[in-house]
Amino acid sequence: MNDFLIIGGGVIGLLLARELATVGAQVVVVDQGQCCQESSWAGGGIVSPLYPWRYSPAVTALASQAQQAYPKLAAELLAETGIDPELEYTGLLMLDAADESEALQWAAGNAKTMQSVTASFIYGRENGLAPGFRRGLWMPDIANIRNPRLGQALVSSLRRNPRVQIHEYTRVLSLQSEGANGEALRTVTQVNVLREGKAESLVADRVVITAGAWSGGLLSTLGVSLPVVPVKGQMLLYRPARRLLDTIVLTDGRYLIPRRDNHLLVGSTLEHTDFDKSTTQEALHSLRQSAQALLPELAQCPVHTQWAGLRPGAPNGVPFIGKVAGSENLYVNAGHYRNGLVLAPASAQLLADLLLGREPVIDPAPYAPTP
Ligand SMILES: Cc1cc2nc3c(=O)[nH]c(=O)nc-3n(C[C@H](O)[C@H](O)[C@H](O)COP(=O)(O)OP(=O)(O)OC[C@H]3O[C@@H](n4cnc5c(N)ncnc54)[C@H](O)[C@@H]3O)c2cc1C
Repeated sequence: MNDFLIIGGGVIGLLLARELATVGAQVVVVDQGQCCQESSWAGGGIVSPLYPWRYSPAVTALASQAQQAYPKLAAELLAETGIDPELEYTGLLMLDAADESEALQWAAGNAKTMQSVTASFIYGRENGLAPGFRRGLWMPDIANIRNPRLGQALVSSLRRNPRVQIHEYTRVLSLQSEGANGEALRTVTQVNVLREGKAESLVADRVVITAGAWSGGLLSTLGVSLPVVPVKGQMLLYRPARRLLDTIVLTDGRYLIPRRDNHLLVGSTLEHTDFDKSTTQEALHSLRQSAQALLPELAQCPVHTQWAGLRPGAPNGVPFIGKVAGSENLYVNAGHYRNGLVLAPASAQLLADLLLGREPVIDPAPYAPTP
């Protein structure tokens, strides 16, 4: 029997598989499609929460640990696979944040470099920005990662690892459990899947749900309710002929992210439309307007691609990480909402610590899955 069955091969599931395999565990990852093609592909890859002071200390704790882990992770993946996840320290410039004093207080209390800046700094750094920005907050240590390449590198690294099996196009339909004294949940005995159209059942000592926005639905097959809901986000890609921006810029919840090859991403919408992933003309228009209001030269540049992804939304953006209450062998790591890419390395490490009986570096209490 395998030690761990991980359901969902997004960045959260794959990084957990990597952590567990490192200590010699036998791990199977299943995904209903191809790994890292859902939210983990669709995201912008900013290695920080947007307006980080507006999140709870639980999010800051994971983000801080993950930000420290990223350079080593990116370097290891490049060395192992030849695929560069392009971790780029572009800094983050937040324009006209209304709650500047809270932000600066948060930064001082959390050992973050954050500076209040005025127009001369803003335009000295980015002279293509539209006129009229008077104030900003500058965080020079923030990076962005090219998340589709991070996904490719993780898959490639895990495929080389003899302790890890990845089964794509393997959809989990339900989990079955056995209980004592009339309690149904106790032990997950079987995971029922449809693998390339054929029904099969899988077993493992321990089962982990890392199915992003779909995690709540999977747990409901055991009668467990987990408040994780899909929140659609649409984004645009521009491919300008020359470099228009060096810095991640953010205003009014909309942002531009420069990639190494001059590509520019614009994000993002927040929509509650269940599991609908279609793109809309309305979002195209609105994101274009936001992009041009930041960087007028984009009016001359066609939109190259528009896409949508489903964030796993949890209350206050705090993910659920740990053992499901009432179970002996069922765990969850889901609900990272807008921050799954930044939080992933620390979330994976925290759950691996719990699974392996290691002393966790971060207090797991705030992330305990609710019954
Ligand atoms: C537009 C947008 C912008 C974003 N920008 C950022 C950002 O800049 N920075 C940041 O940190 N985060 C960002 N995010 C959030 C981040 O992308 C997510 O929080 C993160 O990717 C969640 O990872 P995950 O592995 O939990 O989920 P996913 O990547 O969605 O992976 C879940 C996997 O589970 C599989 N699965 C589901 N159901 C089943 C089943 N029944 N059987 C088998 N497999 C199943 C799916 O196929 C999928 O591959 C953004 C998200 C969006 C949509």
